[in-house]
Amino acid sequence: MRRAIALIARLRYREGMKPANTLLSSFGTTVFEVMSRLAIEHKSINLGQGFPDDRGPDPVLAEASKALYDPPNQYPPMLGVPELRQAVAAHDKRFYGLDVDWQTETMVSTGATEGLAACFFGLIEPGDEVVLIEPCYDCYLPIIRRAGGIPKMVTIRPPDWSLDPAALRAAFSDKTKLIVLNTPQNPASKVFTQAEMEMIAGLVREFDCYAVCDEAYEHLAFDGRAHIPLMTLPGMRERCVRIGSAGKTFSLTGWKVGYLTAPPHLLAPIAKAHQFLVFTTAPNLQRAVAFGLAQGDDYFDELASTMQAKRDRLSRGLSRAGFGPVACEGTYFLFVDISELGFDGDDEAFCRHITTEAGVTAVPVSAFYREDGPRNYIRFCFAKQDEVLDAAVDKLARHFG
Ligand code: PMP
Ligand code: GLN
Repeated sequence: MRRAIALIARLRYREGMKPANTLLSSFGTTVFEVMSRLAIEHKSINLGQGFPDDRGPDPVLAEASKALYDPPNQYPPMLGVPELRQAVAAHDKRFYGLDVDWQTETMVSTGATEGLAACFFGLIEPGDEVVLIEPCYDCYLPIIRRAGGIPKMVTIRPPDWSLDPAALRAAFSDKTKLIVLNTPQNPASKVFTQAEMEMIAGLVREFDCYAVCDEAYEHLAFDGRAHIPLMTLPGMRERCVRIGSAGKTFSLTGWKVGYLTAPPHLLAPIAKAHQFLVFTTAPNLQRAVAFGLAQGDDYFDELASTMQAKRDRLSRGLSRAGFGPVACEGTYFLFVDISELGFDGDDEAFCRHITTEAGVTAVPVSAFYREDGPRNYIRFCFAKQDEVLDAAVDKLARHFG
């Protein structure tokens, strides 16, 4: 069991009664929930779980509210409302030059999370191997394993996060069904380079497999970096699923609206899983997201530049407070080295300590690795008001100063 996500006690069964599913029961509550609960309990500034603390874009909110009073509010079509599916296809053309047939190649999901689950349940046969790049987002492993997949991990390490070609190749075999690629990557905040993407595409072609691309942070690549969907590389159009998240693109994480683009032969089995998982997603939110995806370039540019400025603000502040931030190329997150702070304990203990003693919460990075991951890094979310970031830095500086 991954030690780091077992932050609270395992479920226990009554003596003599049949256990529920043992695989899922063996995982603790996710680190995001655990740390957010702790932050609420101790009234600390929560830079742990990744969510912005502003209202979100007013025009998109207004559209959702208008749509709520403009029925139908009944079950929308299973694959999503046509407006949003058309908007996804138009978005993919506008940003990435992809020609997408909205009727056979797009699907709306209840957040990127459900989209990922639908991909794993829809594509993996028990015994299939699945290549994952570690550290990785916490929902991948449990769902892949529940779907019968056998994870093959490739580890990337701070501070440079380079992808070792030999290690990557060694993870592939004739049994590989798919690779999961998350770029920009949570928690490493890495934007995969063109060369790395080409290397991955080469292996996907050579081993005749698929790629599930978690692109939740597609509009949060910084310093002029381009987000490159793997789907745009030669031979990849037929082999990739691309997943976006309105939560991240519109700073409305509670909405849980995701969208998938995939060739028809992949979308069909994914939709089969989706129909039994959630079937559909709130119609007013879908219509508002369709409106949002059609916003002008200024919206998308400002999203990235605002978040980049927040990254810089937190990074400068934490450096002054004695922390060692690792380069951050995208997402909401700053990966920080705590080894110079003289703390006697690991990353989990450190995150608990700063929550209770300094009044600031972060997430221990070992939660994104298996047992042997580094124990000296934590992750801060910078998608917060400037004054909140400043207050967090002040508290940490006072505590460690
Ligand atoms: N993938 C990654 C890498 C994430 O960080 C998150 C968290 N938002 C998700 C997927 C889930 O996105 P959603 O909230 O749209 O389900
Ligand atoms: N993606 C968010 C993060 O990495 C958390 C989402 C969740 O809590 N499930 O912090």
